[in-house]
Amino acid sequence: MDLFEYQGKQYFARFGIPVSPGGVADTVAEAVEQAEKAGYPVVIKAQVQVGGRGKAGGIKLADNAEEVRLHAGNILGMNISGHVVRRLWVELASDIKKEYYASFTLDRAAKQHLGMVSARGGVEIEVVAEEDPEAIARIHINPVDGLTLARARDLVDSAGLDPEARNGAADILVKLYRCFVDGDADLVEINPLILTPDGRVHALDAKVTLDDNAAFRHPEWDEFRGLQVMDDREKRARDKGLQYVGLDGTVGIIANGAGLAMSTLDVVNQVGGSPANFLDVGGGASAEVMANALEVINSDPKVRSIFINIFGGITRGDAVANGIVEALGRVELKSPIVIRLDGTNAEEGRAILKAHESDRLVSRPTMVEAARKAVELAGGAQ
Ligand code: GDP
Ligand code: MN
Repeated sequence: MDLFEYQGKQYFARFGIPVSPGGVADTVAEAVEQAEKAGYPVVIKAQVQVGGRGKAGGIKLADNAEEVRLHAGNILGMNISGHVVRRLWVELASDIKKEYYASFTLDRAAKQHLGMVSARGGVEIEVVAEEDPEAIARIHINPVDGLTLARARDLVDSAGLDPEARNGAADILVKLYRCFVDGDADLVEINPLILTPDGRVHALDAKVTLDDNAAFRHPEWDEFRGLQVMDDREKRARDKGLQYVGLDGTVGIIANGAGLAMSTLDVVNQVGGSPANFLDVGGGASAEVMANALEVINSDPKVRSIFINIFGGITRGDAVANGIVEALGRVELKSPIVIRLDGTNAEEGRAILKAHESDRLVSRPTMVEAARKAVELAGGAQ
C-alpha cells in the first residue's frame, strides 16, 4: 500500500523523524483553518500519489488567508497526471538552504536492504541516477545487523552533505531505517530532506510503501486505507480474501498455487494473449472460493474469456470439478470458460466437466492447448 504524503509524514513522526507541523484539508475553508493553526507562511500541497507535484502547480506557498483561499481553490480538483486532487496538506513553510535525498528499500538481488543518500535532492532520483550516478551514495545493510549510527554517518559523509547537516541527517537515517524495518515498509523515501538556514534537518516530503503482507500485525494501518485509490477488482478480491492482482488484458485467469498462476500468465502471453489478472485460489478451490474468484473476474469489463488452470494435489480433481460446476450455477458469467484440469483424480474431474460441456464451457487436456483456446475465445492473438 502506497501512502499519501501526509500519511507518510504521520508515519515518520511515530518514529521520531522531524516533519513540519500541519494538517489535512478537503475544502478551502478547512485549508484556511489549518493555515491559521500552523502559522504563516504555509505551504499548500496536493495529496496525490504521483511525483512532480511541484512542477504541476500542486504545491504553493501562501502568506495569508487570502492567498490560502486562492491556491487551495486552484489545487483542489486539479488533475495531476491523471490523479484528481481531493485533499490538501497544509504545513508551516520551511526556509530551505539545501535539499538532499534519503531512502531505504529492498535490494532483492543482493538479499539486503539498500540505503541511498544524495546531496542532490528535490530532483527525481532517477534523473540523478542517470545524469550523475556518482552523486548517490549507497550502502547495503544486512537486516540482521541493522544500521548503526556510525554507518549512517559514513553514508552522509560519502554523499557529501554539508558538514552542518551531517549530525541531523545521520540521526534521521537511523530513525528512517527503523521506520523501514519496524514499520514494515518496502520503501521509505525523503525527497527533499532539507537543511534550514538555522541548521536544522527535516523531512519536507514523504514517500512510504507499506508491505501489505505485514498488515496482519498493523491494525493501525486501517486508518490509512480510507482514501486509497484502489482498483475496484482488487478491492472486491481483497474483501473475499483472494490473492489477486489486476492486469490490463482480456483473458481472466484462475489457478491454484502462485507458481502455477504465474506460469499460466506466461503461457497465455506466449500464445499471443494478454492476461486480465493474476488470481491464485490456493489449495482449496472449493465451490465457495471458485464462485468468489469467478465473481471478481466477471466484474472486469475487459475480460473476454476465462482460463481456469487447476493442478489437483491434495485437492482432488473431482472435488475441484464439482466446485466449478456449483460455482457456475451461482454466477452468471459474461465470458466463456476454458478449463485445464490435471493431477490427482483428473480423469474423474474431467468426466464431471464433460457432462456440462458447451461452447461456454470447454475443457482442454494441457495448459498450452487450454491457453490457445482461451486466447481464441478472447478474440485471438494480439
Ligand atoms: P514533489 O514535487 O511531488 O516531490 O513534492 P515535494 O514535497 O518534494 O515538493 C517539491 C518542492 O517544493 C520541494 O523540492 C521544495 O523545493 C518546494 N517546497 C515544498 N515545501 C516547501 C516549503 O515548505 N518551503 C519552500 N520554500 N519550498 C517548499
Ligand atoms: Mn518530493
